Amino acid sequence: MEKVISGIRPTGNLHLGNYFGAVKSFVRMQKEFNCMFFIADWHSLTTHPKPENIRQSVKTILAEYLACGIDPEVAPLYVQSDVKEVLELYLYLNMNAYLGELERVTSFKEKVRKQPDNVNAGLLTYPSLMAADILVHKADKVPVGKDQEQNMEMARLFARRFNRIYEVEYFKEPESYHFTNKAIKVPGLDGSGKMGKSEGNAIYLVDDEATIKKKVMRAVTDSGPTMLNQEKPEAIKNLFTLLELVSDKQTYDYFDDQYNNMTIRYGDLKKQLASDINAFCAPIRERILDFQQNEEYLQKVIRMGAQAASESAAKTIQEVRQIVGFR
Ligand code: AMP
Repeated sequence: MEKVISGIRPTGNLHLGNYFGAVKSFVRMQKEFNCMFFIADWHSLTTHPKPENIRQSVKTILAEYLACGIDPEVAPLYVQSDVKEVLELYLYLNMNAYLGELERVTSFKEKVRKQPDNVNAGLLTYPSLMAADILVHKADKVPVGKDQEQNMEMARLFARRFNRIYEVEYFKEPESYHFTNKAIKVPGLDGSGKMGKSEGNAIYLVDDEATIKKKVMRAVTDSGPTMLNQEKPEAIKNLFTLLELVSDKQTYDYFDDQYNNMTIRYGDLKKQLASDINAFCAPIRERILDFQQNEEYLQKVIRMGAQAASESAAKTIQEVRQIVGFR
């Protein structure tokens, strides 16, 4: 079975955008492929987080992914820093990574612009660490969004270059895996754009009923349709997109008809949307809270993950050491 690896950034709670845009597909993929998921805690050090924040966010992520349906018995879920072999491969890859090409990576250039006071070497070599994460398991596929495409190109380049330098056919080039042909964009409730943590418009899977309701009732709308069957402006389209994700077809059609015949009351639509988002999130939320309290189980998941990932990585590193010329 093809191997799939995916890193999870430890950046706060999961929101509906993360769920529908990524996690839901991970849950499906674990049945179809030989999947491994890891929490990219080494990557997160580029922004110098506080130690207690790292610990807390690892726990949060674990609980949330488990609550969404990742089964650690099927797909190991490990913490990157538990697998030291990754660092060794990172070092070998860095020896063959050139300053010029690393500096040209778009996400690096963006970071330089955004945080000119913290342009560290970890940021520069982010693509080689990501390549090490993937190549250490000789993964076939990596589920990534558009923003990671260039890093995937670098991973393929580093794999090819390693093979060429050492005159071996060792690493295969990992493919980017796209969940669907049409990328899902979960919109925010502020009239335009996507839902996101940094956009400040996210509905989190752990949000309670009152919080969800407050967020949805504040959603941007307009003064209503002025013509029969008119096209919906973006803010209204966004509400319907969310409705499509969490409600049944009947409910969606009911409000769509009301919009088209100009009888819609946005207050009713929002109440329904809030109620359906809550119905969708409530069981996940309950599981998140349960998992978060079950420290023993979380530790077990991390241990199982570390063991599976270390086994796979150790085999690669042993072979790579031979190729490079070490014992
Ligand atoms: P982020 O936490 O913003 O780095 O997002 C992690 C992943 O979640 C992204 O690579 C996307 O696959 C997915 N994602 C985040 N926000 C959205 C959104 N609004 N719509 C669809 N997918 C999203």
